[in-house]
Amino acid sequence: MIYDSIIIGTGPAGVSAALNLKILGKNFVWLGSGATSKKVEAAELIRNYPGLPDVSGGELAAAFKNHAQKMGIEAKKEVVTAIYDLGGRYAVQAGSETYESKTIILCTGVVAAKPVAGEENFLGRGVSYCATCDGFLYRGKTIAVLLFDKSFEHEAEYLATLAKKVYLMPMYKGCTVEADNIEIVMKMPKEIAGGMKVEKLVFSDGEIAVDGVFILRSSISPATLFRGLETDGGHIVVDRQCRTNLAGVFAAGDCTGRPYQYTKAAGEGNIAAHAAVDYLAGSREPSN
Ligand SMILES: Cc1cc2nc3c(=O)[nH]c(=O)nc-3n(C[C@H](O)[C@H](O)[C@H](O)COP(=O)(O)OP(=O)(O)OC[C@H]3O[C@@H](n4cnc5c(N)ncnc54)[C@H](O)[C@@H]3O)c2cc1C
Repeated sequence: MIYDSIIIGTGPAGVSAALNLKILGKNFVWLGSGATSKKVEAAELIRNYPGLPDVSGGELAAAFKNHAQKMGIEAKKEVVTAIYDLGGRYAVQAGSETYESKTIILCTGVVAAKPVAGEENFLGRGVSYCATCDGFLYRGKTIAVLLFDKSFEHEAEYLATLAKKVYLMPMYKGCTVEADNIEIVMKMPKEIAGGMKVEKLVFSDGEIAVDGVFILRSSISPATLFRGLETDGGHIVVDRQCRTNLAGVFAAGDCTGRPYQYTKAAGEGNIAAHAAVDYLAGSREPSN
């Protein structure tokens, strides 16, 4: 099935895009790494959301979820690891699923962590973001797993069932992953290095030889996610209709640049949804 659109991200930009596409009668898939956004849930008190003078992040997140449910829409909890241009349509890889659509709306927020040196260079040549997609390639091999978020622990456990040896690098406190073939390494590599393929991780005090590196984090830089997408300083370049340099691809929210604010994100989600609908109708003029 080819959807009209795929929305990636469940923060205010993604919620707004999803509500508008639903109202405008489009068929779409909504993918996100969580129920809403950690950046919404984390806010103690929000003072600049119109009409809600002293709402907490938790309350706003619950209101978003409730609103979506009332409209009969629900995000699938999946991390998108790659998007491919198939010429006139796009393929989105999320876990072991691939979805196809005529348009894409990127609402992925900003990526706080800088990529590891070598990460983008070795993507597809030993670096992977997806255990279920690529784990089988490392059956009986030695791998490293850079674990940025507790919610990916099951993916690390799954990789340990396939690989001969796993060097596990949790980037947070309280990691509970255990297996006989797992060695916990409490430091961050300076670089992923190799020749045609990944061969090792380089640390300030030595090296570890590996056949592959899994980087498990909930957000991936837009340029890595989508080859050919124009970015500037980590932000996706858009015009006033939230159109990117790729036909049929739109972006909204923090991922397009500052200010990083809920209302700007929700507003751009709205604009991107309308622009996607205009694109589907073959028009380049913005609708009302
Ligand atoms: C503690 C805190 C307090 C804040 N307080 C305020 C405030 O008072 N007022 C204000 O206006 N702003 C505030 N902000 C800023 C606000 O949170 C952001 O501007 C807003 O959340 C941006 O919305 P967004 O939809 O663009 O992105 P986000 O809310 O970051 O949502 C993006 C979503 O996309 C998901 N995602 C990313 N990549 C992928 C992928 N590859 N596959 C699947 N899903 C993916 C992310 O996991 C996330 O759920 C605050 C931020 C923080 C951290």
